[in-house]
Amino acid sequence: MNVILFHRDLRLHDHKPLLEALQFGEVLPLYVVEPSYWKRNDVSARHFQFVLESLEDLSIQFEKRGGKLFTFIGEIEEALDILLKTYGAFRLFYYEENRTKEEIKRNKRILHWMDKNTLPYTTFIHQAYFKDIDNSREYKKKWKEFIYEDIYGVPEIINTATHFPKSFQTELSELYSFRVHGEKIRFGLKGGESVAIDTFDSFLQSMDKRKSTELIDVTRFSSKLSPYLTWGNLSIRYVVQKAEELESKATQTFVKKLYERSMISCFYQPEEIHTSEENEEIINKWINGMTGIPIFDAIMRYLGKTGWIHHEARLLTVSYIKDLAGVHPQEFGPKLAQLFLDYEPSIHYNYLNKRGKIIHPITFSKKHDSNGDFIRRQVPELKNVPINYIHEPWLYPGFFNLNYPSPLFDLYKAFKKVRLESISQKQEQNEQLKFHFD
Ligand SMILES: Cc1cc2nc3c(=O)[nH]c(=O)nc-3n(C[C@H](O)[C@H](O)[C@H](O)COP(=O)(O)OP(=O)(O)OC[C@H]3O[C@@H](n4cnc5c(N)ncnc54)[C@H](O)[C@@H]3O)c2cc1C
Repeated sequence: MNVILFHRDLRLHDHKPLLEALQFGEVLPLYVVEPSYWKRNDVSARHFQFVLESLEDLSIQFEKRGGKLFTFIGEIEEALDILLKTYGAFRLFYYEENRTKEEIKRNKRILHWMDKNTLPYTTFIHQAYFKDIDNSREYKKKWKEFIYEDIYGVPEIINTATHFPKSFQTELSELYSFRVHGEKIRFGLKGGESVAIDTFDSFLQSMDKRKSTELIDVTRFSSKLSPYLTWGNLSIRYVVQKAEELESKATQTFVKKLYERSMISCFYQPEEIHTSEENEEIINKWINGMTGIPIFDAIMRYLGKTGWIHHEARLLTVSYIKDLAGVHPQEFGPKLAQLFLDYEPSIHYNYLNKRGKIIHPITFSKKHDSNGDFIRRQVPELKNVPINYIHEPWLYPGFFNLNYPSPLFDLYKAFKKVRLESISQKQEQNEQLKFHFD
């Protein structure tokens, strides 16, 4: 039997392991729901919901081609044991995931199991996540080779196993009762290859016309493709090649962002997380949009409902908890990760640990939501606050009747402190540089 292990590659187009496996005959496409993965404190029910939607779509795509998708709830070694018992020798084909310490461990577990049982396997590089590259020039060369390879087409017929283990499911019904912590969302992007391709197509049609600085218009200049790339509903090679067919200026910017994504994923490996409960109260208020500062609360409530916000809003909201409230990324990182549908550990922690430009939240708020429409929509407690006060409602004479919290600390004082620290850090760096050249 030729087993294809699906993980974060939930699609049929440009799927090399599937095509390679089919060359050997009958295949068994398998997605393993690993309880150890879904118990982690940085994944949540909304991620599982997205995966489930992706599996539903994948299952339909297999059936259209005469095949089936199989699922199993249990650890990866259990699934491999069952396969061995059922078929004796089998071949394994899969995209290697190697960006975090957990992923590397999981991959080693699979390979260790296969070696121990002297069974053959072929692993593949996914989304240009190369291993062991330590300079950007080499990365660029490899990226080009990878991205401009021919796109692997979708097979017309997929012959899947007719005889299969009893504990493997071909219906997804059992997965619906699998519990993952956190809440599902109603207004998030829906998972699945079909919807991913539709979203990408409509983005391509309007790419050149998108321009806006207003926060409420985020959908106009963001593709919202990130969850589809994270869970592999879209192949990055497919996205780049299709976008480049358009030959527009906007394409270049778009492709640059995709390149940046892959590069961060390859070069940045997050540390293992050690959370503490020291700042739990402030973290929870921030996560639930109850900081008392409208722009942060609007962003966090929108993220809570939809699982997505654009880049500038991400940078701004992180600056609240990290720079202004002084909480370490190790503490708030996993809770924030649970909210993002596109959660990719390497990218997430790269940005959380980066020292960015510190933006004054009120200046940002006035620039990106000048009329306060986004704030009013997300924070209904403020819907009747006049425009002059919408960004700083605590100055509004009627504030105490609003049932909206006061800021948790003095924003202006905190901002001044962070600015001064940043200036003195820069001066120190310049001094060190001067000393170095003297
Ligand atoms: C604190 C923080 C956490 C983040 N966490 C993630 C994450 O977990 N997963 C993730 O995919 N992105 C993450 N990003 C990067 C970026 O914000 C998102 O990729 C982007 O907002 C996704 O929206 P989009 O698909 O509309 O992007 P578009 O602007 O349409 O860009 C197209 C694609 O390019 C990539 N991309 C765009 N901007 C960036 C960027 N600055 N860095 C890296 N890749 C980029 C994404 O894959 C995106 O889908 C994070 C940024 C910050 C500041």
